[in-house]
Amino acid sequence: MKKFYIETFGCQMNKDDSELIRYSMLMNGFEETSSEDEADICIFNTCSVREHAENRALSRIKIAGNKKTHPKTIVVAGCMAQRLGQRLIDDKLADIVTGPYQAPDLGAIVAQKLQSQNPGVFLSQEISDFKERLNISMIRHSETNWHKWVTITHGCENFCAYCIVPYVRGKLISFPSEKIIQYIKELATRGVIEITLLGQNVNQYGQDCSEIPFYKLLEKAAEIDGIKKVNFLTSHPMDFEPEIIEVIKEHDNISKSIHLPLQSGSDSILKAMNRKYSIKDYFKIIETINKNLKDFSISTDLIVGFPGETEEDYKNTLDAVMKIRFDEAFMYAYSPREGTPASMLKETLSREEKIERLKKLISIQRNISLEKLKARINKIEYVIGEKISKKSSQEITGKTFLNHPVVFKGSYDDIGKVISVNILSVKGTTLVGEKIN
Ligand code: SF4
Repeated sequence: MKKFYIETFGCQMNKDDSELIRYSMLMNGFEETSSEDEADICIFNTCSVREHAENRALSRIKIAGNKKTHPKTIVVAGCMAQRLGQRLIDDKLADIVTGPYQAPDLGAIVAQKLQSQNPGVFLSQEISDFKERLNISMIRHSETNWHKWVTITHGCENFCAYCIVPYVRGKLISFPSEKIIQYIKELATRGVIEITLLGQNVNQYGQDCSEIPFYKLLEKAAEIDGIKKVNFLTSHPMDFEPEIIEVIKEHDNISKSIHLPLQSGSDSILKAMNRKYSIKDYFKIIETINKNLKDFSISTDLIVGFPGETEEDYKNTLDAVMKIRFDEAFMYAYSPREGTPASMLKETLSREEKIERLKKLISIQRNISLEKLKARINKIEYVIGEKISKKSSQEITGKTFLNHPVVFKGSYDDIGKVISVNILSVKGTTLVGEKIN
């Protein structure tokens, strides 16, 4: 039996795709190995969002392909595969190249290719077939069988100026709500208690067809028996309707941890980024969340040093961060992605200047994150136990319903269960608590 090894780069959607790839390989008679050396087939599920992610994947692919003692079939899947396509085959880096949509079919593609002994194949997403994506027979038993990612949309047509996703993942496609709900019900009967609805912009769910809007889908998912926690990723301020906040407010099992990428606190930069909202719009959403949800956490993405960002634009970002007080932020210094409109803009800051701005932003945000964690001390939090802590076999790590990381004394039995935890202190970026039931 031929063995495969799979390595995943990038976002949660890629992680979900890798699960589909794994299942599709197993269904086609391949055996998984965690050792790259032992594998006959190496699959790299790649990311294209940052140049750094591509370079890392390319270097891993080159190393795997160079193994002279054990020749391997190299499969490159995902966004970088879609972007570079035939080039990966022409440069003899890969034998099979598939875009992000072929994940459920990859096992069959590899089996066919191995039989036919064809030269390299590149399958772009135009010939994609989505029907297997939410196939109930494809529900996999994985280590984290209390939690599942549920992809509800594919693609994005927002064309933020810095982002490559619309060019590699294609147009927005919403999966039928009936199928999604049926899939989650099936997951619940198999012991899944937590789900994360996934999409590049989940708030746009249904806008490409005559489907129900996102807030209705969220409501239906939360009302499924046995589902104790519903998360959703990623939102876009442009489409974050008040109805979403209403639904969150009415359902205790929807996580009140909202990830809402701001990107910049300056209107002129938001415009140049083609984000289609103003800082005033963003503050309005925060105000509505504040009014309606007593207890919530908010996280964001921020880019500094976008072409044309002045000192004043940057200060507006710092001001916004200090006013909003995010629980967490993913912060980056802008770097151009080939093929995006922003890559055509003239850079106005040196790398060093961008890094300087980033460092200051990170330091401000770190203090805020710490203060927000400290504010949880002496509160009782519901936590889903996730795994045994790396530091001690007597401790369990998990996340609260606001998605703050927690560690508490416990045992294997706490994994995949909702546990009440009294928060005692903060260690680094993690809450430390004690189990109270
Ligand atoms: S919303 Fe913007 S940043 Fe997000 S995937 Fe779409 S184009 Fe990229």
